[in-house]
Amino acid sequence: MFEKILIANRCEIELRIQRACREMGIRTVVVHSEADTEAKYVKLADESVCIGPPPAASSYLNIPAIISAAEVTDAEAIHPGYGFLAENADFAEKVERSGFVFIGPRPENIRLMGDKVSAKTAMTKAGVPTVPGSEGALPDDGKEIVRIARKVGYPVIIKASGGGGGRGMRVVHTEAALLNAVNMTRSEAQAAFANPVVYLEKYLERPRHIEVQVLADAHKNAVHLGERDCSLQRRHQKVMEEAPAPDLVAKLRDRIGERCVEACRKIGYRGVGTFEFLFEDEEFYFIEMNTRIQVEHPVTEMITGIDLVQEQIRVAAGEKLRFRQKDIVLRGHALECRINAEDPYRFTPSPGKITSYHPPGGPGIRVDSHVYQGYSVPPYYDSMVGKVIAYGATREQAIARMRIALSEMVVEGIQTNIPLHRELLNDTRFVRGGVSIHYLEQKLAQEQTKKK
Ligand code: ADP
Repeated sequence: MFEKILIANRCEIELRIQRACREMGIRTVVVHSEADTEAKYVKLADESVCIGPPPAASSYLNIPAIISAAEVTDAEAIHPGYGFLAENADFAEKVERSGFVFIGPRPENIRLMGDKVSAKTAMTKAGVPTVPGSEGALPDDGKEIVRIARKVGYPVIIKASGGGGGRGMRVVHTEAALLNAVNMTRSEAQAAFANPVVYLEKYLERPRHIEVQVLADAHKNAVHLGERDCSLQRRHQKVMEEAPAPDLVAKLRDRIGERCVEACRKIGYRGVGTFEFLFEDEEFYFIEMNTRIQVEHPVTEMITGIDLVQEQIRVAAGEKLRFRQKDIVLRGHALECRINAEDPYRFTPSPGKITSYHPPGGPGIRVDSHVYQGYSVPPYYDSMVGKVIAYGATREQAIARMRIALSEMVVEGIQTNIPLHRELLNDTRFVRGGVSIHYLEQKLAQEQTKKK
């Protein structure tokens, strides 16, 4: 096992990885920007190295600075967390070429999944069901594009192969609007991702977002750890997640899980990963794979009893998986609310000093957060300040515990989205379970019109 790991990230996930390492007796090095020097989690690490000024491009995305920090501290491996460099194949490659272990998949797997057209093609080949659409990239010929769209049937969605973070997509309802939409998406994709390749898919009108967690070692062993439902989204950003997905039949779970595991074996995948699907009329359609630990991993940990970050470190160190599929038992239900420093209804970021902080507790409550009273949320990065996770024997109990937790929780000095979560936990449709990915935005839009 490693003796020392460098964590190339910040805030709650940095602390989460640090805790996993400490439990395993691994020493930690934290790299941080000048904006995070005073944060308590930086001081908790065995060592810390300042790698640059606040803007991420000069610090958390500064590859040479991160590798030098690993060199001067004698770290053996680098954990990228999520976001920043976690899905950057060039970074993974440079880490390995510099003689360190990258705690994640092989660079070629990151590259394969980072390009949506190649990811989709690989998944189709591996027997994973995908959204009906163009076979690979759209051609240049307008007539051919029209023919493909007709065959798929409207509405369709044009997506950028290099897209991410919910950007580079356009829904088309009529043939008249098709070619213009393709051209616009192409030029936007070129500008934003330096890649003009676009593809076309059937636009699903009321799907749920259901994703499958996998874990694979470097010896061709792989398991799935059930699914998460992340349908509550705003602007394609997840707001609340849960596991298992409400009302998903066990047979469907097993079938899709097996397909994902098989795909991992076929591409020689190593590490933790998530296959994201849209789910409509009891069918799964692959949309993309995330080749890293995800924000919402705790809900899976709660229902499986498996520490995903520790397992991720073990397989990166070359260890064999310690369990087989039959050893993975899903028990109970877990929810996660992402707590963001933002206006709960207008969603504008609300950085600043936390003047008063009282986290919740009690049976089944887990709080993954790096903040405390007196902590200042810097304005430079993502607005998430932590996650509250509630576990219960049933979904009803998990919801009840989450309601109590959020009624106790106090964060003052900045605005947070806790009021929105409190409202959602009492929303009849949500409580019934199984809402579509459009539900939250429709609800917010309705409330807007009511206010007017
Ligand atoms: P990104 O990498 O930007 O997150 P994804 O391919 O994962 O892109 O898609 C993000 C979101 O866009 C999905 O969660 C879903 O809400 C929506 N979306 C993508 N493809 C489709 C589709 N074929 N039909 C309906 N909605 C879609």
